Amino acid sequence: MKTYAIYVCYGPEMREHSRRFWAIKWCFKCRKRLRHDAVFMVPVEPHWYGPHWEVKCSGCGEDHTHFPGTWDGPTLEIDYGMEEG
Ligand SMILES: [Zn+2]
Repeated sequence: MKTYAIYVCYGPEMREHSRRFWAIKWCFKCRKRLRHDAVFMVPVEPHWYGPHWEVKCSGCGEDHTHFPGTWDGPTLEIDYGMEEG
């Protein structure tokens, strides 16, 4: 019998730096239109995976604004035009 180890990459520990209102969008997980915030996430420790904007639903705290299966990249681009602060 073989033993397999499964490694899941969780990435660095991130913390929320700031958030601001982004849009009222349909959430495919919550199945309703909810407020979504643009959240600026920064790594707790210095890491190659740098600070970036994420979209977070006010219901589930995740980004389900894309129709399931049609994910084509981050909802927010790095140069989204929002500065920190
Ligand atoms: Zn949601």
